[in-house]
Amino acid sequence: MQKRILITGGAGFLGSHLCDRLVAEGHEVLCLDNFFTGGKVNITHLLGRPNFELIRHDLVQPIFLEVDEIYNLACPASPIHYQYNPVKTVKTNVMGAINMLGLAKRVKAKILQASTSEIYGNPAVHPQKEDYWGNVNTIGLRSCYDEGKRCAETLFFDYHRQNKVNIRVARIFNTYGPRMHPRDGRVISNFIVQALTNQDITVYGDGSQTRSFCYVDDMTRALILMMNGPDDFIGPINLGNPDECSILQLAEMIIRLTRSRSKIIFKPLPQDDPIRRCPDITLAKEKLNWEPEVELEEGMKRTIEYFRGLV
Ligand code: NAD
Ligand code: UDP
Repeated sequence: MQKRILITGGAGFLGSHLCDRLVAEGHEVLCLDNFFTGGKVNITHLLGRPNFELIRHDLVQPIFLEVDEIYNLACPASPIHYQYNPVKTVKTNVMGAINMLGLAKRVKAKILQASTSEIYGNPAVHPQKEDYWGNVNTIGLRSCYDEGKRCAETLFFDYHRQNKVNIRVARIFNTYGPRMHPRDGRVISNFIVQALTNQDITVYGDGSQTRSFCYVDDMTRALILMMNGPDDFIGPINLGNPDECSILQLAEMIIRLTRSRSKIIFKPLPQDDPIRRCPDITLAKEKLNWEPEVELEEGMKRTIEYFRGLV
C-alpha cells in the first residue's frame, strides 16, 4: 500500500538514504529539512521524481501536513555541529518532538523517533541493553544532545500514554557510509578524509575508547522494519552493529585500506567522551528478525570510494 511519509532531517546523511529506499518502494515521500547539516546535494537525484517532495522548514516551528507516517530524524548528529549552537540543539530535539508528536496526534500518523546510544552516556554497563538507564552528565558539552534526546524519548512515551499516539523509538548507534558530511568532525569521515589527503590522522585520547559502527544500508533497513513492526512493539530498541573496535584499530584499518602515507597523532580526548560503546541487539534480532549484514571492512571500502570522489 502506498503511504505518504514525512522524513524530518531528510536531506541529511541517514535521512537521504531513507528517502531513497522509501521512494524506491513507491511511497509518497515528503523530505523536510532546514539544511543546517544536510544539503540538497544528498537528494538532488530524487527531485524530479513524482513521488518525492522537498520542504525547507525549521522543525522548531509547527507545520501542518497530511501524512500517514513520520520518521523524526531532524537534529545535527556530530558533536561539532550539535555543540555549535547548543540551545538550538535542545530546541530542535524538544520542540521538534512536540511539533511532530502534535502533528501525529492530529492526523493519526505513526511516528518513529531517531533516538541515540547517547541516551546511555558514558555507560557503566557493557554492552548496553535497552533496560539500562544510562550515565549522563546533565551540564556538560554533550548534554544539549544527550538530554535533548532523552527528553524527546520521554515526550514520545507520554504522548503514547496520554494521547494514544502510535510511536516507535529506535536508539541508533554509530552509523557510517556515503553522504556523511566530509567536515562534520565524526571519526570515520575525519579519518578517511585525512587518510586520502595524506594528512595526520587525529586520534583523540590514546585511541583505546571503543565504538561499534553500523553501515548505513543496514540501519535504514532496520528503521523501516521497526516502523512497520507490530503496534505492540514500540521500543525503545537498540539498532547498531555489535562488532566493537577501538578508535586506534579503526585508524589503522583506514590507513591500510586507503594505502595512505598518513601518520597517527594523538590529541586530547573531548569532555565526556564515552569510553566504551556497544549495543546488545538481542531484542532487534528477536522482534525484527534483523541483524547487520555489512562487515566493517566492506562498509569502509564503500565509504572510502565515496570520499575518493569528493576529495
Ligand atoms: P545529519 O546531521 O546528517 O542529519 C540531520 C539532518 O537534520 C540534517 O539534514 C539537518 O539539516 C537537519 N536538521 C537539523 N536541525 C533541523 C531543524 N531544526 N529543522 C529541520 N531540519 C533540521 O545526521 P545523521 O547522521 O543523518 O542523523 C540523523 C538522525 O539520526 C539524528 O536525529 C541523529 O541524532 C540520529 N542518530 C544518528 C547517528 C549516526 O551515527 N549517524 C547515531 C545516533 C543517532
Ligand atoms: N575521534 C577521534 N578523532 C577524530 C574524531 C573523533 O579520535 O578526528 C574519536 C572521538 O573522541 C570518539 C570516537 O572517535 O571517541 C567517535 O567520535 P564521533 O564524533 O564520530 O562519535 P561519538 O563520540 O558521538 O560516538
